[in-house]
Amino acid sequence: MSDSPSTFENFKLNKQLLEAVADAGYTKPTPIQEKAIPLALAGHDVLGIAQTGTGKTAAYVLPLLMKAKYAQGMHPRVLILAPTRELVMQIEEAVTTFGKYTDLRYVCLYGGLGPKTQIEKLQQGVDIVIATPGRFMDLYKKGEIFTKEIKTMVLDEADKMLDMGFMPQIRSILEIIPVKRQNLLFSATFGSKVERLSQEFLEFPERIEVAPQATTAETIHQVRYFVPNIKTKINLLMHLLEDESFSRVIIFCKSRKNAESVFNYLERKKLGEIRVIHANKGQNTRINSMDDFKSGEVRILVATDVAARGLDVSMVSHVVNFDVPLIYEDYVHRIGRTGRAENEGMAVTFINPAEEYHFEKIQDIIRMEVPTVQIPSEVNISPTPFEEKQGYEREIDGQKRRENPDFKGAFHEKKTKHRPKTEQKKEKRGNKNSKAKRNRNQLKSQGKYKNK
Ligand code: AMP
Repeated sequence: MSDSPSTFENFKLNKQLLEAVADAGYTKPTPIQEKAIPLALAGHDVLGIAQTGTGKTAAYVLPLLMKAKYAQGMHPRVLILAPTRELVMQIEEAVTTFGKYTDLRYVCLYGGLGPKTQIEKLQQGVDIVIATPGRFMDLYKKGEIFTKEIKTMVLDEADKMLDMGFMPQIRSILEIIPVKRQNLLFSATFGSKVERLSQEFLEFPERIEVAPQATTAETIHQVRYFVPNIKTKINLLMHLLEDESFSRVIIFCKSRKNAESVFNYLERKKLGEIRVIHANKGQNTRINSMDDFKSGEVRILVATDVAARGLDVSMVSHVVNFDVPLIYEDYVHRIGRTGRAENEGMAVTFINPAEEYHFEKIQDIIRMEVPTVQIPSEVNISPTPFEEKQGYEREIDGQKRRENPDFKGAFHEKKTKHRPKTEQKKEKRGNKNSKAKRNRNQLKSQGKYKNK
């Protein structure tokens, strides 16, 4: 690829598209665009390993628009599948941006809203369908989508689609669209599941990888803090947010419950406009929160992974992983929200004792060790409540057992032994008094959780 073009003009794109690219302010193609656009235009199947933030959306949307050219007939000729409605909407934005000087018609199909408007749009005739697999199949089964004219199909964030259990729907879709077609598959990671899918889906694909598998964008500065418990995580978060350079922050939590707790706490502290998005929030609330965050009106967005998937927000100054993600690939997706397209970003991860195991696995995936930063001395290290500590011990036992099935869990042995109530009470009292001290000792001995 030594002669790869370094301007958009060198691609075989028409004037309408080049003009729209210029309007969008893009002056230079990103590496994935340099590689993918000529291959897709030449009709190849493409396997693109690229995370969000690399410019992958334009890398396939531009050639698709070029191929679809202008409004034609009633039925879709291009199908783009994505795991979540947020990502569908992000892709739609790219189609709107780049298709603005064409008359191409498109429709977004996703759940969470009634299908009426979507069906009406289909009935008016469309060239491009952007859909989540579930809603696409629902409408197909209702007889609302004619699939025989689909000539190009894209699977975006294929790894996430598989994680979310969309394989059966993807298989059904492959059965109902013409065999002779061009396929493009994009994924942030290339694990065995994606590899299997790519074998089923792609024919002699050209494989392009903009960074080695699942490595994290170079512009993202990553750090981790070992934090003994939730209360201290909150204290540390508050401390970080006092810093004004945390100007546009996404805080990721592993569950709705944690997201709500963090949100409620921060909202009371009046640290600037704040919103929370998770699967229980209605579609419109989520869209509004995202828009307010994008426009810069909102400083802090608390989110779960599912809700934040596909969220296209540039210039995020910081991503804070309040919890370590349990689907490890989500780490890459989360931190991809910062440092997008040339802007420097920072990703901060809080790790409690039970999360250390998971973070180790993440480091294996990203093939790097994330530097550790000590908790600043101004941050109060709260003692770990007994139940929380028990929870961590239980989890750590489970992790050890997973690694070594012969491991006899210290926690469960203790648990099963029957002890008189008085003894337990005494222990609890003892715990209370010396808890902070013991905590510190334990943490000190690990050399991780201490203040500077
Ligand atoms: P994506 O990886 O597709 O999610 O894109 C990440 C961000 O980069 C989006 O906000 C795009 O608008 C932006 N972007 C994509 N390609 C370029 C480019 N060639 N020049 C500048 N910004 C870009």
